[in-house]
Amino acid sequence: STREWQAADSAHFLHPFTDHQALAAKGARVITRGEGIYVWDSEGHRILDAMSGLWCVNVGYGQPALEDAALRQMRTLPFYNAFFQTTTPPAVMLAERLAGIAPGFKHVFFSSSGSEANDTNIRLVRRYWDLMGQPQRQVIISRRNAYHGSTLAAASLGGMPAMHAQGGLPIPGIVHIEQPHDWAHREGAARGLTRDDFGRLAASWLEDKILELGSETVAAFIAEPVQGAGGVIVPADTYWPEVQRICERHGVLLISDEVICGFGRTGQWWGSQTFGSRPDLMTFAKGITSGYVPLGGVMVGERVAQVLIERGGEFEHGYTYSGHPVACAVALANLDLIEQLGLVQRVREDTGPWLARQLATLQDHPIVGGVQSCGLMAAVQLSREPRTGAAFDPAHAIGMVCRRHCFDHGLVMRAVGDRMIVAPPLVITREQIDEMMGLVRQALDRTWEEARASG
Ligand code: PLP
Repeated sequence: STREWQAADSAHFLHPFTDHQALAAKGARVITRGEGIYVWDSEGHRILDAMSGLWCVNVGYGQPALEDAALRQMRTLPFYNAFFQTTTPPAVMLAERLAGIAPGFKHVFFSSSGSEANDTNIRLVRRYWDLMGQPQRQVIISRRNAYHGSTLAAASLGGMPAMHAQGGLPIPGIVHIEQPHDWAHREGAARGLTRDDFGRLAASWLEDKILELGSETVAAFIAEPVQGAGGVIVPADTYWPEVQRICERHGVLLISDEVICGFGRTGQWWGSQTFGSRPDLMTFAKGITSGYVPLGGVMVGERVAQVLIERGGEFEHGYTYSGHPVACAVALANLDLIEQLGLVQRVREDTGPWLARQLATLQDHPIVGGVQSCGLMAAVQLSREPRTGAAFDPAHAIGMVCRRHCFDHGLVMRAVGDRMIVAPPLVITREQIDEMMGLVRQALDRTWEEARASG
């Protein structure tokens, strides 16, 4: 029964990013199955999963092609490593396939997660500069409020203050600049800056930091095309081209973390294509298998790959599951399905614009201070006073209030502070977007009523 699941869960399972006392008081919601864009809990309630699990179930739940691919590969060869000058057909085929959909990239390094892939990035760029005879280029610049994973190094790349406060992060050699905030744009607007001006200003913070550190010490800059877990911060069109110019001017490698933005989320295979940047390395995970099995990795551009291959000797880095054959077989089936269903184009031309249009209708809601979206990822900013943009008192934890009302209405939305996030499976239809937005509106109504009642 649900009670038994909950009791065993709180007795034994330490959840990621969870306050366990709060969880024990309520009991975990037990999710038992999924189909399309919906999941069901152990009490039989249907829930519209507007977060694609955790930004990953791009082709939706219950796709037989992915299940069959896993089973076939498990029966043929469930595991073999890639360490002993050995390889497996699914890993080779996936590497070749990825090179085909990532313009300018011919090589890939596999991991099992985005966190491990970002650790790999750090190892790769430092190794590159060693081999280039510039070992003093060690520093990696990242952005505040970014999430790049949970290992010591990936959590250090991320700029989450709450994470850094636990465990003595960041590790040395990682520094942070400000993100291209939505609120800062509001501030910028108050100072007479256009959105494009603000994009250039936000990019200039990278150059300021490079000059402060001395470009001869900076190895790379890492960022997501659209900052995801940081609140779906969609940058101005001027931001990425200017970042690209700055990296080129100072010889700094550019790493695009595509863990959320990759595989169609922004309406192109890669978020960097949507924003016109040309990264040297790209991190991926999540959507590569639609979350059905764990897989991640780094697309390694020729500038780095050639040096590593021709001058590097043995690269002292790798994971037991680098190129796991079952994960790679599922990824191939997933990419086939994305292509067969035309999901990338559908997000760009149909469902992405449709979502943007529906979101715009929320602008006049008394608790909505603004909306932002890119393809099928979007944020709704909650505001105490939308006209002035005044924020709620943090003690209200208004995002968590809204998340609770979403759950009560059969909808999963994520709260990032006062920003409510949607990133539904890419198979969602226009009709289902309408259904989702109806639920969003009901949850916002209830949140507004509760906020008003509590003054
Ligand atoms: N990078 C980004 C942008 C992410 O959003 C995440 C996870 O949410 C990661 C890296 C870490 O990926 P994983 O949880 O697979 O380690």
